[in-house]
Amino acid sequence: MDTQMLIGSKFDKGTETEEPILNPKTGAKILSLPEASPAQIGAAVAAAEKAFASWSRTTPAQRSGYLLKIADRIEAEAKEFAALEALNCGKPINAVLNDEIPAIVDCYRFFAGAVRSMPGQVAGEYLPGHTSMVRRDPIGIIASIAPWNYPLMMMAWKLAPAIGGGNTVVFKPSEQTPLTALKLARILSEILPEGVVNVVLGRGDSVGNTLINHPKVNMISITGDVATGKKVLQAAAKSVKRTHLELGGKAPVVVFDDADLGAVVNGLRAFGYYNAGQDCTAACRIYAGKKIYDKLVADLSSAATTIKYNLPDDTENEIGPLISRRQRDRVSSFVERASELKHIEITTGGKPGEGSGFYYQPTVVAGALQEDEIVRREVFGPVVSVTRFSEVDEAVNWANDSDYGLASSVWTKDVSRAMTTAARLQYGCTWINTHFMLTNEMPHGGLKQSGYGKDMSLYALEDYTAVRHVMVAHG
Ligand code: NAD
Repeated sequence: MDTQMLIGSKFDKGTETEEPILNPKTGAKILSLPEASPAQIGAAVAAAEKAFASWSRTTPAQRSGYLLKIADRIEAEAKEFAALEALNCGKPINAVLNDEIPAIVDCYRFFAGAVRSMPGQVAGEYLPGHTSMVRRDPIGIIASIAPWNYPLMMMAWKLAPAIGGGNTVVFKPSEQTPLTALKLARILSEILPEGVVNVVLGRGDSVGNTLINHPKVNMISITGDVATGKKVLQAAAKSVKRTHLELGGKAPVVVFDDADLGAVVNGLRAFGYYNAGQDCTAACRIYAGKKIYDKLVADLSSAATTIKYNLPDDTENEIGPLISRRQRDRVSSFVERASELKHIEITTGGKPGEGSGFYYQPTVVAGALQEDEIVRREVFGPVVSVTRFSEVDEAVNWANDSDYGLASSVWTKDVSRAMTTAARLQYGCTWINTHFMLTNEMPHGGLKQSGYGKDMSLYALEDYTAVRHVMVAHG
């Protein structure tokens, strides 16, 4: 197992406090990893700065070649990456191997193509006697900070457009899930020139905080909690760094009375509980029409009880445990507080799973009202609330009445209603008659306190490059 950080071309252990890395399926410690010291963080930034001088002048075709090599190596070592991610996050092995790894490989391949064909305004004589052209150039050194829910995928979403755009990176994985980042660091050191990507380890308030406040860092990219995003903005304000923020979500799912109930229930069973609900787009906040509500609650409650987890043969598991005891207790306390309300009924689940792992039962919270905490706050666990609505306007207003603005969905057989509702939803993504599906060609990112950075797609390349105007006076 790779345990060392990558600083320039050197592999090194951190010298500060040790952080235990746990197996969420059992609660047992896998190993402990020491954090980077301020001097090691400084050395990583210096390595990125040194590498920038030549990396930023490589051609798109050259950078594309590097991205393709990274994709090939991840694909060739898919089983090892999947086993490590499953161990560190508690994910079912098949979910990592069949869902995540192909999407990660495709992310590097998408940006390998995209960087060679960036669109933009045509050059021309907008002022007589002068030719103007628009360039998109790298921004510089990017501090990239990832969460624990999809460690290797978040690394792909951050690294591929950043280095594809000609930037160099100091990457910090979540202190809870660094193992696949350390394995990829070893591969990156074999493929990329020295210092293009550096990987440092440690907690947010120590290593993360030092990194985002480093004066040589030009841009901070973070996926994490809204509170963390606000700290990033404060740090960025000091030296006007660019920021790329992907913060939480609380996705509304508007189900009209005419929706295909079977499809809705299958969709919610899959997309409400995937990754044990630790997903910022999870279909967790259902608004059901008054006629479909009772049957939806009954069918979803039975469907949720069939979700397979904590089985000894991991290939049968559909979801895993939560990432930590703390996260499991947090989820548990949300459900306990909700269950104390008279109008709420926990129709299935509502308890921690058995054993020493950090499991929580797939849960349906029926009868929730718009002002309830369970409807308003991000739970980040296998918990779906259902709220009854009467009129279209009520559903749309409730769906939009949130601090978050990442993802949403609308379920109806009426195309016109689907389109008018989708147009009114204030979310970075609205799915119609599905939820959760992503593709590397399309942008992923939010509105409101969910942040404004776009991952995947050409929009991510735009976020990681600066628009410049060059004008030539004719002689
Ligand atoms: P978190 O904000 O606690 O941590 C995210 C990362 O930020 C970690 O690497 C952490 O070490 C670092 N960090 C924390 N405090 C920091 C600080 N002061 N300075 C610098 N870095 C700091 O979030 P988490 O608990 O790891 O992840 C879950 C959260 O991420 C949820 O809120 C979820 O919705 C969100 N998320 C959002 C998206 C998205 O695309 N919008 C995707 C995945 C997760």
